[in-house]
Amino acid sequence: SASSAAAHVEALLASYPDFPQPNILFRDLNPVFADAVAFRAIVDDLADQHRGQFDAVAGIEARGFLLAAAVGYAANAAVLAVRKGGKLPGTVLTEEYDLEYGSARLELEVGQLPAGTRVLILDDVLATGGTIAATSRLIERAGYTLTGVGVVLELTDLHGRERLGTAPVHAIMSI
Ligand code: AMP
Repeated sequence: SASSAAAHVEALLASYPDFPQPNILFRDLNPVFADAVAFRAIVDDLADQHRGQFDAVAGIEARGFLLAAAVGYAANAAVLAVRKGGKLPGTVLTEEYDLEYGSARLELEVGQLPAGTRVLILDDVLATGGTIAATSRLIERAGYTLTGVGVVLELTDLHGRERLGTAPVHAIMSI
């Protein structure tokens, strides 16, 4: 259930001040992934919250891949890998976006699924929302329909949700 998934995250989440740089409070979800019961609970919750609303999941490199593979399998959905710049061959769509320091690039291969395919974006943490906003643009540019966003943890102070569009955003836990 949703409440047990949140309880697992709350119990296992680790926090590291000043990592990877000063003034960042890094939230480490690896202890959640490393607990079989907790991992199953978060995967089932992400699939349940958007049940019937998606035909494919798009996982964002790298931690989003762990979620996308499992949720895709659990929900009989296709899996798309949204990769960091320069890693995908063939014809790719590119989105560049600003980070706190510098910029980042995300890419998606074109023509993998039919136009209009309903896509659920998955990542571990929603912080400023820049990463998921860029991924949303890739999904739309590829001709797919974004029908939901799922994350394990939302950092509400950063208001990332406000940078996203109208598709429902589900966070297992918000802090
Ligand atoms: P953002 O684009 O700001 O929403 O950042 C989202 C991406 O950066 C996610 O893929 C997160 O894994 C990572 N991230 C950003 N801030 C944190 C944080 N405080 N702790 C852990 N991961 C973070």
